[in-house]
Amino acid sequence: MKKLLFPKAIAHSVYDLDPGRLAERGIKAVISDLDDTLTPYYHTAPNEKLCAWLAELKKQGIRVFILSNGKKRRVKPLCDALGVECIAMAMKPLPFSYLRVFRRLGLKREEVVYVGDQIFTDILGGNLSGLHTILVEPIAYKQSKREIKKRELEKPYRRVAEGKA
Ligand SMILES: [Mg+2]
Repeated sequence: MKKLLFPKAIAHSVYDLDPGRLAERGIKAVISDLDDTLTPYYHTAPNEKLCAWLAELKKQGIRVFILSNGKKRRVKPLCDALGVECIAMAMKPLPFSYLRVFRRLGLKREEVVYVGDQIFTDILGGNLSGLHTILVEPIAYKQSKREIKKRELEKPYRRVAEGKA
């Protein structure tokens, strides 16, 4: 079980994932979380840096699919503005929506990476689905008691993944 909580790789942010290098590695699709992975949870419009990164992925022939636990009324307009396909209310970490996207892509597992900022949803679900999971640091997160507690619980796993524990 514990193994499922560790990402296969870590990165500071999605911008460390160089589209050219991904393409060289044979990656053909990036499945990604939305809030705090690609954009802060409070942003409702795309930012330039993100658009440039997505455009570069596209140029390299890498498809992008967003998988979010957020409500459709938040996720869909933003993904439409970004020009990427999405599934809202994905019920991560359950593997169903990951597998739905994976089947839809029609690719091999080694041609797909999953990126997210949370261990107990993003990484667990990605690992359960047999995808190559990459953990990034959250861009921001709600300073609510529940959210802070959740991030606290993630810390030991994050530290091990970072090679610091
Ligand atoms: Mg997130």
